[in-house]
Amino acid sequence: MATIPTMMQAIVVKEPGKDSQLQVEQRAVPQPNAEQLLIKVAAAGINRADLMQRCGLYPPPAGDSDVLGLEAAGIVVAAGPQHKSWLGKAVFGLVPGGGYAEYALMQAGHAMAVPNGYSMAEAGATAEVFLTAYQLLCAIGNVQTGQRVLIHAGASGVGTAAIQLAKALGASVAVTASSDEKLQACRELGADVTLNYQKSTFEQVLAQQWPEGVNLILDPVAGDYISREIPLLALDGKIVVYAMMGGREVPQLDLATLFKRRAQLICTTLRNRSNKYKTNLTQGFNHTFSQALGQRKLQPILQQQFSWLHAEQAHQLMITNATVGKLVLTF
Ligand code: NAP
Repeated sequence: MATIPTMMQAIVVKEPGKDSQLQVEQRAVPQPNAEQLLIKVAAAGINRADLMQRCGLYPPPAGDSDVLGLEAAGIVVAAGPQHKSWLGKAVFGLVPGGGYAEYALMQAGHAMAVPNGYSMAEAGATAEVFLTAYQLLCAIGNVQTGQRVLIHAGASGVGTAAIQLAKALGASVAVTASSDEKLQACRELGADVTLNYQKSTFEQVLAQQWPEGVNLILDPVAGDYISREIPLLALDGKIVVYAMMGGREVPQLDLATLFKRRAQLICTTLRNRSNKYKTNLTQGFNHTFSQALGQRKLQPILQQQFSWLHAEQAHQLMITNATVGKLVLTF
């Protein structure tokens, strides 16, 4: 095994805020504790949280790396004493920050073996969106075969993973997106009903298409979407809010509309969950879906790969909302 250097290059944020810049900096290679792996990073997925972090709106939890990057794929080059069996293996998974660097730490319980035939770029773009979608649909949404699920931002990273997982779980899927091209991509992933929210009011069209009501709504938009979604819910339906891209205030929320449906409005995040929670989530996902990933019945949708030195360019592309699926940095 190659010697591990003491120093590495990493991408850090200079002046978090509206004028933030990305900068390559020399950092010490992190040392794994007994429960961690050290990964020589080959690819790191880009996430909206990275954009928020550089804007100063999403500081890393205490103790986590300030280097950007919430997921990575690479080769294990060092491991705690109980986890030596990972040495030399290609893995992917969540990291506690620090993915945009030559080396990153990963909890051993968060590591998944890279499926045969996957490029490192694909593997590096899998964990965050599939684990988020799995959390939303299964751990929180408890979706059942035959239920109806509405997935907003269907062509987003999380949306493209959620469509595939919801279909694999036997649900019917409706999606919203801003363009017919994005909706076509969602249909190719299995979406049954596609709604262009620029051309029509999604709640009117869906109420006609699914008069029985929606069992689960995955909502990264929030704002005025919430009050528009509630009338769509079936009895005991759930709205799981996982971002606030459309605004943090909910105008005209009438709780009686939730009571009438015994509905639940749930807000959730993945990043600030405990290592144990993320381990359970990772193991649950891996146990249920690793075979489907390996057979490409499920797979990450890669819009574009960038050399890690072009991270700024990748961030600017994500800001335009023009992407379908994921952007990834390769090292
Ligand atoms: P992404 O791949 O960058 O896609 C985001 C898409 O959302 C855009 O392309 C756009 O698609 C749509 N969008 C953006 N602003 C919108 C608005 N104001 N109203 C309606 N649609 C809007 O994003 P992602 O990686 O899937 O993440 C989506 C959100 O979830 C981000 O905010 C991210 O930080 C968050 N997230 C949360 C968790 C969690 O655990 N809570 C985990 C992962 C991600 P259209 O052109 O179709 O509108």
